[in-house]
Amino acid sequence: MSDSQARETPKCISCGIHVAGTSAASFKCPDCGHQIHRCAKCRKQSNLYECPDCGFTGP
Ligand SMILES: [Zn+2]
Ligand SMILES: [Zn+2]
Repeated sequence: MSDSQARETPKCISCGIHVAGTSAASFKCPDCGHQIHRCAKCRKQSNLYECPDCGFTGP
């Protein structure tokens, strides 16, 4: 079976909500370069994030 949904929906790394169309921050994991998104709320609260790829945690 072929999955035609190539475009992944950006989700907040901390709370998991969909961040498409919001003022979410997106950056790359400093360790492995994995694309990470964080919603404005979690950014404001300075929630820690954990890279799903390498397990790197940061502010
Ligand atoms: Zn969030
Ligand atoms: Zn990483």
